[in-house]
Amino acid sequence: DDDENQKEDYLLKILLVGDSAVGKSNLLSRFCTNEFDPNSKSTIGVEFATKSVKIKETLIKAQIWDTAGQERYDSVTKSYYRGAIGALVVYDITNHITFEHSNKWITAVKENSHPNILILLVGNKIDLKEKRQVTHDEGKKFAEENGLAFIETSALDSTNVEEAFLTILENILEAIQ
Ligand code: GDP
Ligand code: MG
Repeated sequence: DDDENQKEDYLLKILLVGDSAVGKSNLLSRFCTNEFDPNSKSTIGVEFATKSVKIKETLIKAQIWDTAGQERYDSVTKSYYRGAIGALVVYDITNHITFEHSNKWITAVKENSHPNILILLVGNKIDLKEKRQVTHDEGKKFAEENGLAFIETSALDSTNVEEAFLTILENILEAIQ
């Protein structure tokens, strides 16, 4: 059909960053191929996946990069950040230290890509209600103080995963169009 022949209007590089095991790779696979892996092991090296989405009348090819096992914020190479226009900074709502580390990831993203890069703060694993260590309000407040958008997700049950990626893409489109 027409959509298949239409060329993308934009190729947008989006980063996934955050501590190891917060669910970055599963958010990516849930969004791109609707898959979840309960036993996912970190792989070595940088990887990305692409997904084409249509927002209003604009066709976007989102190129989403995953740190894939290089999750010490000072070990992620500069080429990972280069050219990115948006980033999802992910923490695990059941592990408070991963939330505290968001700060370092935000700084790394701004320093290595662009100071005005659009950032969405993502609190993942909200299906694990009884294990929650970071409240919704705590995440929201931190995001507001730092001028970031905010969302909570579950890669396991799909809650808000599509919304998260569409939110950052919509915000980027608003900024560049
Ligand atoms: P990464 O290191 O940040 O890429 O994290 P992974 O995507 O590899 O996930 C780490 C672990 O958390 C794996 O065992 C996943 O199955 C699990 N996981 C990821 N997202 C969720 C989620 O939303 N809910 C639950 N309960 N587990 C998750
Ligand atoms: Mg991973």
